[in-house]
Parts: sequence; C-alpha cells; structure tokens
Amino acid sequence: MVRLPPTVPGSAPAKASPPPLLRGAARVVVTGGAGFIGSHLVENLLAAGHPVHVVDDLSTGTIDNLAAVASHPRLRVTIASIADPSVAARCCEDADFVFHLAGVVGVQRLAAEPLVVMQRNLSVTQSMLAAAASAQVPILLTSSSEVYGDGHVPFCEHDSIRPGATEGLRGGYACAKAMGEWLAFGHADDSGLPVVVVRLFNTVGPRQSGDHGMVLPRFVAQAVRNEPITVYGEGAQSRCFAHVGDVVRALVALAQAPGVGGRVFNVGSDVETSVLALAELVRERAGSQSPIARVPFDDVFPRGFVDPVRRVPSLARLRAAIGFAPSMPLAAIVDQLVVGARAELAVAVARS
Ligand code: UDP
Repeated sequence: MVRLPPTVPGSAPAKASPPPLLRGAARVVVTGGAGFIGSHLVENLLAAGHPVHVVDDLSTGTIDNLAAVASHPRLRVTIASIADPSVAARCCEDADFVFHLAGVVGVQRLAAEPLVVMQRNLSVTQSMLAAAASAQVPILLTSSSEVYGDGHVPFCEHDSIRPGATEGLRGGYACAKAMGEWLAFGHADDSGLPVVVVRLFNTVGPRQSGDHGMVLPRFVAQAVRNEPITVYGEGAQSRCFAHVGDVVRALVALAQAPGVGGRVFNVGSDVETSVLALAELVRERAGSQSPIARVPFDDVFPRGFVDPVRRVPSLARLRAAIGFAPSMPLAAIVDQLVVGARAELAVAVARS
C-alpha cells in the first residue's frame, strides 16, 4: 500500500526545498582549473574559503594562469588528464563538489583537428561523470552554447537542439557537449548523482588566448599593434560577450542555489553585438589606426563548417534561480583588455 503524507485541510503539504549542491567550506575539484575560465573560478573559490584541487593536463590551459594563487595554502594542483579513469576516481576521493570545466575549446582547433576535439571532449566528460557517480560527488558540468547550433534566438534551455548535418564537422563538437549533458542526466537517473549543467556563452576577459580563434583577444591584440582587424565574412554575425568575473560568479551561485539539480542553465550575457560592431568598438576604445579587413569565411574555415549567425541566450531561468545579471558592459571589458594587451606589447618590445 502506498502511504500518503497526512494533510491538514486547507493547508498545502510542507515541501522541503532541495538542498544546494555546494555548501560552506566544501572541498572542491576544478577540472580545467588552469584554463581561462577555470583559473578565474579557482581564484574565486579560494577567496571564499574553499580548499581547491585543480586537475588539468595543460593541453589548452597553462600553469601561468594560476600565478596569482600559486602559493596559496589551500590550493592543490595535479597535472593529469581526467580522461584517465584512475585520475578521475582519485580526485573524487577527497572532494565534496566538482566543477567540471576540462575540455578542448576553440573554433580554429576544432577546424584543424575535429576528430581529436570531439573524442577528447566526450572522453573527458564520460570519465569525470562515471567517477563522480561512483563516489556520489555532486557535479556542475560546463557545456556550451554550441549545442543550440542554428536554432532560433533567444536560446532557451528547454529548446530542441539543432547542431547541424554530420557532414559539417562543427556540429560534432556540439554533439559531444550535448552527449555530455545526456550522460550527466543518465547518471542522475541511474545512481541519483546530483548534477547541474551550464551552457556557457561567449566568455571574455583577462588571460583568454586568441590562439584558437576567440574573437575578442584577437581583435584587441590586432588593434594595439595597429594591424588589420580580421572580420570574418561581412561581420553581420552576432554574439553576446560576458566578462569572466560575471560568469564565474554565476557558476558559484548556481552551485550554491537550492533546487538546481537535474537542470540546465544558460550562463552569459544577452546583449547582442555584431562582429563588425565589435571590431569598430575595439578600434575606437584602443585609439587604434587599424584598418578593418574582411576575410572570407572560406579562407578560414573548412568547407561545410558553419559559423552561427546569431547566438543569444534567454537568461530567464538563470535570473529566476540566482537573480543573475551581467554587470560589466562590453566597452568596459574592451578597455580592460586593451590595458592588458598594451602591457604585454610593451614587454615584447622591450625584449626584442
Ligand atoms: N571571428 C572574426 N574574426 C576573428 C575571429 C573570429 O570575425 O579573427 C568571428 C567568428 O567567425 C565568429 C565570432 O567572431 O562569428 C566569434 O568567434 P569565436 O571563435 O570567438 O566564438 P564562437 O564562434 O565560438 O562564438
């Protein structure tokens, strides 16, 4: 017989709010903690009092990203790949929470080595989720706005995804990230693993490298050198850029929010900017003489490699969960990056 809880006439049954996944001074693992976003997250978590264990194979990140916290007494760093199941299992042994950020990013990298990028992203997430499930360590999985593909904006978390044709390899990255999400919810279903999924939109800020395609660090580096700013296509394609500090704040707030388990959240900015407008903004804020050079898509991307035309998140779900609004306007972000790029250029000139 099924027993129902007793109810008092006229009153709703008391409903316990599901607890947050990350609490107090929990011991936290950050996979990909030496990467661009990961290293900012590590600084935030250390400042909040958490012991932090970074696991990173330095394939895209660099240990220099952790320079500001290198001697912090609560920081531990393991240089290894989480794709190795024994590494993933060990890092769960003494952890209360995992932020899983490890992965291969960058459109240029995807264009150059699509198979490696697809396989690595899938294997790293598969391995991490299996270990977290076995140890029952709650996990925040970072996925990507790429999963929406060429869907209709604004992208909502409950939308069907449209990663594209399998002959166009860009969708393979989207599918690897989407498969990671499905595996996460599969583990939640199978073993009760507490999991929250975040789809990151274009994130920018200090320490982001332009080496693998990311547009803003590339434009800023070009502008401070007065070199041509390389706008792909007509520059009518648009993106929304959020500062890494805002993004990291949202990741931590989500992990600490009640009732987020088993759900997907868009994280980023919803202020849309065309790539051409971005180039003009960077040139203006840098006081640069750079010409704007239009580069045909076919010169930079392999055939069948689709550049999404618009990418705008709905932030309604995120706002409802944590009251999030991005705080740093794009012009202020550009100013910050111009200062950093000028300092780097001065060092390079002094060395030469
Ligand atoms: N882009 C560009 N010039 C560059 C690098 C990128 O015009 O030197 C464009 C790119 O085609 C895309 C946008 O900027 O439309 C954002 O590219 P990024 O690789 O930063 O992010 P994603 O395409 O993943 O949103």
